Amino acid sequence: MEANSAVIAVRGLVHRYQDRTALNGVSFDVRPAELFGLLGPNGSGKTTLFRILSTLMVPSSGTATIVGLDAVRQPGALRRHIGVVFQAQSVDPKLTAYENLWHQGHLYGLRGQELKTRIDEILTRVGLLDRASDRVETFSGGMQRRIELAKGLLHHPEVLLLDEPTTGLDPGARRDLWQYLQILRDQEHVSVIVTTHLMEEAERCDRLAILNEGNLVALGTPEELTREIGGDVILLEARDPQSLADRIRSKFHVDASVMDTQVRLEIESGHRFVPDVVEAFPGEIQSLSVSKPTLEDVFIHRTGHRFWNEEAEAAAETGKKKKAKKH
Ligand code: ADP
Repeated sequence: MEANSAVIAVRGLVHRYQDRTALNGVSFDVRPAELFGLLGPNGSGKTTLFRILSTLMVPSSGTATIVGLDAVRQPGALRRHIGVVFQAQSVDPKLTAYENLWHQGHLYGLRGQELKTRIDEILTRVGLLDRASDRVETFSGGMQRRIELAKGLLHHPEVLLLDEPTTGLDPGARRDLWQYLQILRDQEHVSVIVTTHLMEEAERCDRLAILNEGNLVALGTPEELTREIGGDVILLEARDPQSLADRIRSKFHVDASVMDTQVRLEIESGHRFVPDVVEAFPGEIQSLSVSKPTLEDVFIHRTGHRFWNEEAEAAAETGKKKKAKKH
């Protein structure tokens, strides 16, 4: 795809908080009417990237443009083209759905009949027109998120940015929200960027950028990314996984790694390998699983460690807390 057909172009984005590098040279494009996911574990840099794209923060270096407007040099103009839905609630629960949208419309210079029509339109779009005059505090979590979405969409942005939009929602409300995002893409041709740390959400995106410790480790459709691993993933449970992995490597000349208490292998034809490995190490394998590669496997393949890495998460949390104390 040519660079000029990108709705969002991120080039060599670097961001440092004091001595911590949150983004380490990230580049990618988002295409028109694409549902694009930013997937990464806690601390991988998603929120930092999100804040830069929504013009709330200036990167240490590199550029981000949305519809050709530079996030650092033209933040005011850029903001008119984006809708932003933050993790934290921004609607006023004491006001009705309609009143919340009325105030939001004023911020964007919408007035009178035009605004009324647009509010009706957008409430219909998120399935809440019949609740327009109810206070938002009487809504379920999923409905409140839909009002947030309506707020972000009121001024007809070409791009919608959402930071972990399904946090705190039950599975039914999550599914609904994703359906709305797909409808927006298909019927209004909005480009939707969603940050998530959930694999099952990432799988619903058209394309994904996977982040790890500030680096872009994979970019593509979920199918492309998992296909790249090929074959099967085998996990073996053993009392001494390190020793078993060493011996599997030397006997079968395959790449066996140790993840927590398991030996992990990526093998072309898993079903053929299983009887061989069980026979080669009688009594040593306590359990065994063969599965098709998932996005979690893509992450392991590219980084050498699990997506849920407690050490990395703890380090990321310490970084944030340190910063919070300074203010
Ligand atoms: P994510 O959204 O993927 O959890 P973040 O962008 O919040 O990741 O964080 C990326 C890295 O930057 C982490 O190591 C985190 O500790 C650090 N970080 C984030 N915000 C701050 C801050 N305000 N001050 C210092 N370090 C921060």
